[in-house]
Amino acid sequence: MTLPVSISDIRTEVASYVAAFPQKSGDPAIWRPPLVAAARADERFDILPRIAADDHALPRDLLPSARCVIVFFIPFHKSLARENHTGDTPCRNWGLAYESTNRLINALSGHLKQFLAQRGHATELTPATHNFDPQRLMARWSHKHLGHIADLGRFGVNAQFITPAGCAGRMGSLVTAADLGDHPLVTDAELCLHKRGKSCLVCVNRCPVAAVSEAGIDRQRCWTRLNHNLQDTAALAGLDSHTHVCGKCQVLVPCSLKIPPAPQAESGNP
Ligand code: SF4
Ligand code: SF4
Repeated sequence: MTLPVSISDIRTEVASYVAAFPQKSGDPAIWRPPLVAAARADERFDILPRIAADDHALPRDLLPSARCVIVFFIPFHKSLARENHTGDTPCRNWGLAYESTNRLINALSGHLKQFLAQRGHATELTPATHNFDPQRLMARWSHKHLGHIADLGRFGVNAQFITPAGCAGRMGSLVTAADLGDHPLVTDAELCLHKRGKSCLVCVNRCPVAAVSEAGIDRQRCWTRLNHNLQDTAALAGLDSHTHVCGKCQVLVPCSLKIPPAPQAESGNP
């Protein structure tokens, strides 16, 4: 027997789980309220091998009975973004936030799977990170591309994912047999100022190794920097061998914490 589950049920579960996690885990409270979007697992996802990696999995590859893809974004507090803005290497708390948020995403995903299973709906998960091809540096399950299709947000020129709560945060996703329907959070084609024809490119100027340009991101150059940070930055000493972090193009830029409003002079709204 199956019981109906709505997007409101999922959003309530996600919000309460994230809010309770610091006390449960002992991790610092570094997260703002999460965002959740959902999309029917229909033909829109067939585009994934073309716009992401050519071996990107489809929802039905994970779960043959897939009816819906749920994508969530857990935004960081401004204080963490501000702390990581200083200097050209990441602060220790940014590295610790990467680790604790991955733990949160994995625990939250497991909780949602159990929540849905108790109502009779099969669900499949993927890990929060490092599910990518180390040669091509492309994810075989890209939360960002799924978020784009589910209208949770849009890509910036820095390849970060801009949501209504900005891009400073981390994402997770799952595939379920529950039919939740389509529940987008954005409708605009683009949210990045530059992609909307407005002045910005703050992220381009912020990257310490010139890995971001108007044309997009140089993945190899960025990945080299992330490895260098982990190996040679004293502030990250002793952190997990998967803690590849930087985030300079993600913090204290116009799209860090919200959808950036177009400057008045350019928006046409006096
Ligand atoms: S900093 Fe500006 S140009 Fe860069 S992604 Fe954000 S809005 Fe776009
Ligand atoms: S994460 Fe760091 S190295 Fe990579 S593009 Fe952003 S600022 Fe540059």
